[in-house]
Amino acid sequence: MSLSRRDFLALLAAPASMALSGCVTIPEQTPYRGKQVVIIGGGFAGATAAKYIKRLDASIEVTLVEEQLSYSTGPANNWVLGGLRSLHSITFNYRTLREKHGIHLVPDTALRIDPVRKIVHLKKGLILPYERLIVAPGAELRWDSIDGYSPQVTQTMPHAWRAGAQINLLRAQLLSMKDGGTVIISIPPPPYGCPTAPYERASLLAHYLKQFKPKSKLLIFDAQDDFALQNLFIEGWQQLYGFGTERALIERIAGNAGGEVKGVNVSQHAIVTANGEQRAEVINIIPPQQAGLIAREQGLTDVTGWCPVDPLSWESSTVPNIHVIGDASLASPMPKSAFAANSQAKSCAMAVVASLNARAFSGPTWMNTCYSLLSPHYGISTTMVYRYRNAQIAQVAQAGGQTPAESNKQLEAVYADSWYNNITQEAFG
Ligand SMILES: Cc1cc2nc3c(=O)[nH]c(=O)nc-3n(C[C@H](O)[C@H](O)[C@H](O)COP(=O)(O)OP(=O)(O)OC[C@H]3O[C@@H](n4cnc5c(N)ncnc54)[C@H](O)[C@@H]3O)c2cc1C
Repeated sequence: MSLSRRDFLALLAAPASMALSGCVTIPEQTPYRGKQVVIIGGGFAGATAAKYIKRLDASIEVTLVEEQLSYSTGPANNWVLGGLRSLHSITFNYRTLREKHGIHLVPDTALRIDPVRKIVHLKKGLILPYERLIVAPGAELRWDSIDGYSPQVTQTMPHAWRAGAQINLLRAQLLSMKDGGTVIISIPPPPYGCPTAPYERASLLAHYLKQFKPKSKLLIFDAQDDFALQNLFIEGWQQLYGFGTERALIERIAGNAGGEVKGVNVSQHAIVTANGEQRAEVINIIPPQQAGLIAREQGLTDVTGWCPVDPLSWESSTVPNIHVIGDASLASPMPKSAFAANSQAKSCAMAVVASLNARAFSGPTWMNTCYSLLSPHYGISTTMVYRYRNAQIAQVAQAGGQTPAESNKQLEAVYADSWYNNITQEAFG
C-alpha cells in the first residue's frame, strides 16, 4: 500500500485499533521525509524528548512508538512496595502527549531499524520513516548473569524492578510472611536504573517490617563494596532500624564480604553466594542490567552492553542519524535516573531541532537529582550539574551536593514527593 503524507499522518492520529488493524507499508521513496522524528520508547527519556521537540518546533512531525499502553514509573516504585502509594498513582498514560502536544502515538514494539533507508519496522507491520530517530528503550534485565534465575523463577523470587505485577507479587509475599521471617534483597553490580533505588527499597521494606513484623530481618546481599550516599543511608538506618546493633532490622553483606549473589536454588528457596546458600521466606533478586533489546540488536551497543554516544547531540557513535538517550546510553558520570533521562532528552531535543533547521547547537549542560525515602518522613537527596567538555560529560565542580548530615530529613521527604510530581508532569503532563 502506498500512502500520501496526509494519509499517513491521519493513520497515526487514528485510534490505535484502526491504526494497527492493517499491515501498512510506507514506500521506500516516501515523498514526505522532511522534519520527521520517530522516537522509540515512551519512558522519561522518550516522552520528554517528544514533548520538547514539539515545543521547540511545532512544525516537526513527532511519532512516539511505545509498546505499553500505560507507563508505571521506576521512581516511587519502592513507595508502592512500602505501602506509601498506590500503583495507580504512579501510572501514566499518553493522552496528554497526544491531545495537548500533538504527538503521534503508536502503541507497538519497534522491531528493526534500517539506518540506510531511515525506516523503523514495527511488530504489527507498520513501517515508519524518519529523518532523525531517537532510541530510548531504557534498561533490561540480564537473564544470563545469575545461575538458575529466569523469567519463570520471577514468579517465586520476584525482581519487582518494573512496577506492575512484580511489585504486587513482592508486596503480597511480604504481607503473607510470618513475623520472624527473613527477607533478602540482592543488589547487582552497577550500572542500573538509579544507583540509590535498591537501598531505598531496603529502607522501605525495613519500615514495613518494623511496623508489622518486628521480629523479622532484612538481609542485603550486595555486589558492591560501597554505594551511593552510603553515609547518609547508614546514619538513617542506625536511627530508624538499629543498624549495626544486635536488634538491627537491616544487615548488609558487602561485595568484599561475599555479598554478590551468583545463583539461586529454587527448590530450597535460597540464594547462592561465594559463602554458600542462604534461605529466606521472601527473596527479591535485582539482576544485572543492559540496554534494551532494540538497541542491542541494532548495533547501537558496545562491549559494555550500553550505547556509546556523542553527548553534544546524543547521536550514536555507531550509527548516524540515530540518537540514544536515557538509561540505554553510556552517559557516565551521569547516573541512570529519571532526572538524568529528562535532562538528556531536553538537550537531545534541542540538538535534533537545530539539526533539522540547519542551525548550530553547542554547549549543553545537564542536571541530576535523586531523592530516596528511608521512611515516609525521612528523606535524603543528591544533586549534580554536568557540562559538555572535551567531547565528554564533566561534573561541574562545587555545583552539586548531598543532604547535609544535620539537615531536616522530614523536609527532604516532603521535597521528594514534590520532586516526583514535578518530574512526572515534565514528562507526561
Ligand atoms: C525501583 C526503581 C526506583 C527508581 N527510583 C528512581 C528515583 O528515585 N529517581 C530517579 O531519577 N530515577 C529512579 N529510577 C530510575 C528511572 O526509572 C530510570 O532511570 C528511567 O526510567 C529511565 O528512563 P528511560 O526513558 O531511559 O527508560 P524507561 O523508563 O525504562 O522507558 C523505556 C520505555 O521504552 C519502551 N520500549 C522499550 N523497547 C521498546 C521497543 N522496542 N518498542 C517500543 N517501546 C519500547 C518500554 O516499554 C519503556 O516504556 C528508579 C528505577 C527503578 C527500577
